[in-house]
Amino acid sequence: MKLLVTGGAGFIGSNFVLYMIKKYPEYKIINVDALTYAGNLENLRSIEGHTNYSFVKADIADKTALEPLFAPGDIDAVLNFAAESHVDRSILHPEIFVQTNILGTQTLLDLSKQYNINKFVQVSTDEVYGTLGDTGLFTEETPLAPNSPYSASKAGADLLVRAYHETFGLPINITRCSNNYGPYQFPEKLIPLMIQNALQDKPLPVYGDGLNVRDWLYVEDHCSAIDLVLHKGRNGEVYNVGGNNERTNVHVVKTILEELGKPDTLITYVKDRLGHDRRYAIDADKIRNELGWQPQYPYESGIKETIRWYLNNTEWMEQVASGSYQQYYDTQYKDR
Ligand code: NAD
Repeated sequence: MKLLVTGGAGFIGSNFVLYMIKKYPEYKIINVDALTYAGNLENLRSIEGHTNYSFVKADIADKTALEPLFAPGDIDAVLNFAAESHVDRSILHPEIFVQTNILGTQTLLDLSKQYNINKFVQVSTDEVYGTLGDTGLFTEETPLAPNSPYSASKAGADLLVRAYHETFGLPINITRCSNNYGPYQFPEKLIPLMIQNALQDKPLPVYGDGLNVRDWLYVEDHCSAIDLVLHKGRNGEVYNVGGNNERTNVHVVKTILEELGKPDTLITYVKDRLGHDRRYAIDADKIRNELGWQPQYPYESGIKETIRWYLNNTEWMEQVASGSYQQYYDTQYKDR
């Protein structure tokens, strides 16, 4: 198989490329990534020079740059991870989210249709469903009701993917996964951000009352789900992915402090995020029952392993946390 993976230098994309190269060393993988602030080729250093892996720096909305990759006509599947992915940034700059997440996806869909690829997998998020109250789970039938510019742009992309299937018969699947944690996550997201601050004895900014609930999944379990969908997903179907690990944000933060031997007094409650979704929780029965997906990493050990990874990779943390991220961080939290 020859796969075109977009966003492969980001958190989940790089974990997926590493997972696939290890599991299917005979597959050819082209990683297309624009290397925004969130893309880091350092994540893929261990496979640099691998005969079946190549990297192309390109924007997924740039058809001229992408067409030569499709033109030989030998790409079997496109897996679209590339996205602007941070909700807080989408509140500050929605336009780049529309550009990458919607127009970029449409460009990939056009090329996939033109060159008759066999499968287009759109890596989406449970955030397209909006927010839950204290009970209930998102199923694949839950209506889309995105609340942030990020989730709205992902929902827009999902609808285009669906439309290319209905209108043009493009073979597609959409996966909608809950919050991921694991190695190589950019330190603006909750878990690496809190680890980094705690290590430096800086305040740990927690939004609102800290009781927003997220359903956490170890990134490798997300990768195995996408692998299954790629190979066995029924054409045109959506698959929710989640590990039944609902935790409040403050619970996650306290686990980190406990693991690092730091005091809870570092927790600082800050003004809530605008439009902050209260609770996400996934019903993943469809992918479990239809495709036999089983997550392998229990949350309690996965989170501890992840904390250890960041402790053992402080150089990586420092490198990605420097430069443009630092500037962003200052703007983001200066009034809080
Ligand atoms: P990330 O921000 O870590 O990585 C995104 C990658 O996309 C980066 O390497 C970046 O350089 C690249 N990129 C951005 N704009 C691009 C463009 N115009 N052209 C080419 N490349 C571009 O994101 P992530 O957390 O790894 O998320 C990957 C995908 O999974 C996203 O589509 C996201 O919506 C989805 N998702 C994420 C989570 C999560 O918890 N992180 C959960 C569910 C779904």
